[in-house]
Amino acid sequence: MSKKGPTAPKGASKGATSKAVVPRGRGDVVPKNMPGPIAMKKQDGMLVPEGYTMRKIEPAKNYDVESFARAMNPDFAPRLKKLFDPETEAAIQAQKTGIYIGWRCPDFKHDCQRVNTMSKCFCGHLLGEHANFTGKSILVPCKQGGCKCKGFAWIPSRAEDVGEFWMQRRRDFDPSTWRAKCKCKHTHEQHDPTGMRRCKTGCGCGHFISNFLCAACDKHWEDHETFFETEDDRVAKGLPVGEMYLPFAEMPHLRNIALTGDEEDDSKYLALTQGEGSIPRRKQITSGNEATFPAPSGSSSKSGFRPVYD
Ligand SMILES: [Zn+2]
Ligand SMILES: [Zn+2]
Ligand SMILES: [Zn+2]
Ligand SMILES: [Zn+2]
Ligand SMILES: [Zn+2]
Repeated sequence: MSKKGPTAPKGASKGATSKAVVPRGRGDVVPKNMPGPIAMKKQDGMLVPEGYTMRKIEPAKNYDVESFARAMNPDFAPRLKKLFDPETEAAIQAQKTGIYIGWRCPDFKHDCQRVNTMSKCFCGHLLGEHANFTGKSILVPCKQGGCKCKGFAWIPSRAEDVGEFWMQRRRDFDPSTWRAKCKCKHTHEQHDPTGMRRCKTGCGCGHFISNFLCAACDKHWEDHETFFETEDDRVAKGLPVGEMYLPFAEMPHLRNIALTGDEEDDSKYLALTQGEGSIPRRKQITSGNEATFPAPSGSSSKSGFRPVYD
């Protein structure tokens, strides 16, 4: 872990495309004495406090980060769960359907975002409002009337997805109206969903360039692509599958928080990995909380995957 000076210019060493100044809840953006906002970003599925970078997921270091985060905010567990809910749902859907939808830079060995059917496309419609897709789909066109979108492209739909955690603290902030924006200051919905993604307002912008950086990798939105893959595709590419695709798969207590809101509660994890209708994994992950757990129930289920929800 290396500590960056709080005033170090963002992406100073990353070349011309990284000039975007991304307000990340540091400096004067977050009132200094205001309790609460977790000024953290996601990196490889891990929350990292702002001002720090982590090269690799290593449990010992992550534990320190987590302690820090908990000390900063007593609402850590519920907020972490809320932050990761869409991705947890995506991982559960992937396990259920065998179709993994990940948003990442093409050369990455991890997804910057796990995508589910309620995830938003650049065109403004949800994945579920697009045509049917499989694990081999390349372009999944939008089916909504009048929409010209030819292929689903994930776009952040929550301020916290781009690290704007402080937005939630504003009394007048309405999450339903937040939209990811271009450098031209217009939203993705004001841009053409096809071709060069030109701005439709007539402002002269010829190409959507995100005014935010990916919370996981610090690259621009347009450096990423949405991939539809089967489990076999991902295994061949060295990408995580099955329960290893869950947020915080390597860290049981954080994984439990993402699944249940309670670090000690591994019931959903066990239901996913060992419950009735769960999909056998190539690589058996042993335990929930290192506790004893019931043996897998019978293999007679034809009802398919059915996680237990509250
Ligand atoms: Zn659309
Ligand atoms: Zn679309
Ligand atoms: Zn624009
Ligand atoms: Zn514009
Ligand atoms: Zn990224």
